[in-house]
Amino acid sequence: MTGSQGGKNSREITPQRRRRIQRLKHIIIGTIFSVIFLLIFLCAFLTVRIYMLQERVNELEAQMAENTELSDLNRAADASDQSTPVSKEDSDSVMNAAESETVGFISNQSVSDNSPDSADGEQTIRKVYLTFDDGPSDETDTILDILEEYNVKATFFVVGKTDSKYDLIYKRIVAEGHTLGMHSYSHNYQTLYASRENFIDDLDKLQQFLYDKTGVESMFYRFPGGSSNTVSQVDMNDLINVLQDRGIVYFDWNVSAGDATETAIDSETIVNNVLTEVQNFPHTAVVLLHDADDKKTTVEALPEIIEGIEAMDDTEILPISEDTFPIQHKK
Ligand code: ZN
Repeated sequence: MTGSQGGKNSREITPQRRRRIQRLKHIIIGTIFSVIFLLIFLCAFLTVRIYMLQERVNELEAQMAENTELSDLNRAADASDQSTPVSKEDSDSVMNAAESETVGFISNQSVSDNSPDSADGEQTIRKVYLTFDDGPSDETDTILDILEEYNVKATFFVVGKTDSKYDLIYKRIVAEGHTLGMHSYSHNYQTLYASRENFIDDLDKLQQFLYDKTGVESMFYRFPGGSSNTVSQVDMNDLINVLQDRGIVYFDWNVSAGDATETAIDSETIVNNVLTEVQNFPHTAVVLLHDADDKKTTVEALPEIIEGIEAMDDTEILPISEDTFPIQHKK
């Protein structure tokens, strides 16, 4: 070999060289495959990550909807009597009395003057409705104990929870004279508000579920995020029609405890929020509170809230009923 390194022979591939080339090939192919595999893995990871973040964004959006609605509402209420921001474009005969009242409410805080309790010119009593969303939870029993202690009736807008530990709670709400309202079975904004069909399925499921648990057919509804939520993929008017077709009345709120935030706010703030805002409404105040495992400060605040409201002149705390003036946000 040594003597034959001419131009021709130099291009000859020796076994060693072949092995080297072979090795190099393997290394290159291996590297390429590793890179491809890594890229695929990275893509999969990022896809999952994006999906999770999207979920998070949706949750936060929903939460913001709950939090901002009230300020929207208050702003609207502060506006002048005639500036009604509610569009009446849907003329398809669905505007019933309740909706007209809504329009009145949003246009002016003094809508309460139109509410039934003052129509006959009698002395006005402020009616306060304490409403608890998202239950049942591990806190519900304590809430019920406090309400019982003060002999106050409230309204629970519940979701569907199949764990048998909640069976007695659903029953207790009803047995103790509180109003059982619906707050969607799933409380999953993404599926609930994805289509009219989804909403109907969820509604029927919850109504039947509650009937099976308690024997009560609930006729009150609170939309997750309120009727003015900006999360729904479906026109909220369509969903409101669904409720109206079934004779179900929906309630939003005009007073918020502010306890929908992810990080708990202290009970003093909750008490202040409620007591300050309730006084803005001389006739009807529907107070939004939450009944959830992580809303312990709401429970702590409850006794003071009740005492504070009961200390107000001509004010009573009531459970929502057919006679309750429906506070509704719908824009
Ligand atoms: Zn809720």
